[in-house]
Amino acid sequence: MQLEGIHHVTAITADAQRNLDFYAGTLGLRLVKKSVNQDNTSVYHLFYADETGEPGSDITFFEYPNLPTGRAGVGMIHRIVWRVAGAEAIDFWHDRLTNTGLDPAQTGETLSFTDPEGLAHELTVAQAPDEPLTAHHPEIPANLALQGFDGVRAYADPEPSRTLLEDTLGFDPKPGGARWEARGEHRGSFYIYDLPPSERPRKGAGTVHHVAWATRPEEIESWQRTVADAGTHPTPVIDRHYFRSVYFREPSGVLFELATIGPGFTIDEPLEHLGEKLSLTPRYEHLREQIEPTLTLLRNPRDAWARLK
Ligand code: ZN
Repeated sequence: MQLEGIHHVTAITADAQRNLDFYAGTLGLRLVKKSVNQDNTSVYHLFYADETGEPGSDITFFEYPNLPTGRAGVGMIHRIVWRVAGAEAIDFWHDRLTNTGLDPAQTGETLSFTDPEGLAHELTVAQAPDEPLTAHHPEIPANLALQGFDGVRAYADPEPSRTLLEDTLGFDPKPGGARWEARGEHRGSFYIYDLPPSERPRKGAGTVHHVAWATRPEEIESWQRTVADAGTHPTPVIDRHYFRSVYFREPSGVLFELATIGPGFTIDEPLEHLGEKLSLTPRYEHLREQIEPTLTLLRNPRDAWARLK
């Protein structure tokens, strides 16, 4: 049983439209699912990914309108690292992000920047042989597009988590300190700890909620028992419609999810129309007439390109 790298990363936004403009507009990801937060159906849960919505490229946001901006601290993921093809892509993104008013920092073959709410991202030149997971965008040549996750960095003391990561989850320790790789048959991702800042963490807009690691569908129950036996107090296997999930907090405090590869985002709409309509899981579908009018209408940058075709 091996985890296949990162499945998705879920973060928090206070402004769904600004979030959509940035992730689908500026970064060129595809909005592959527009749903609602299952704890509060008057607000959005947005999923962005590559063109086909593959695990390994999926960043999702819960919207909490007007929530104050947070600050990553101990026990939280503070940076999301994406792969790009090479130095040419780093230069392209430096220019593109600068032209949208951001202030990216280039260090050799990496580029760091924050989204409009302060969530930190980094682009790095892909070293792994994994399939590039890219989305189409008329202003972004395919060979320069984001290619999916390389890894995430968290703030924490690594020692309490070392045994769980290595002996239970099968993360492979790598040289250079608190650094591991979760690699399966097809994909892999890094998990890295950095020294936490002295400021207290504050959950809020622009912070990561959890990271999900990809499992084979037939192994999720077995993973649930494995992490339970390791003392993590996981949830039962929860059906999220697009995948099935188990949640637990790893000892250093970061919220982990294990999520199945599939059934995926085409379970309730065709590939060519992903993310266009509001998708409600079967539990909420009968409430559509109540839910839809409470949501602010979103303008997807992709609609404008579709009209230009
Ligand atoms: Zn999740």
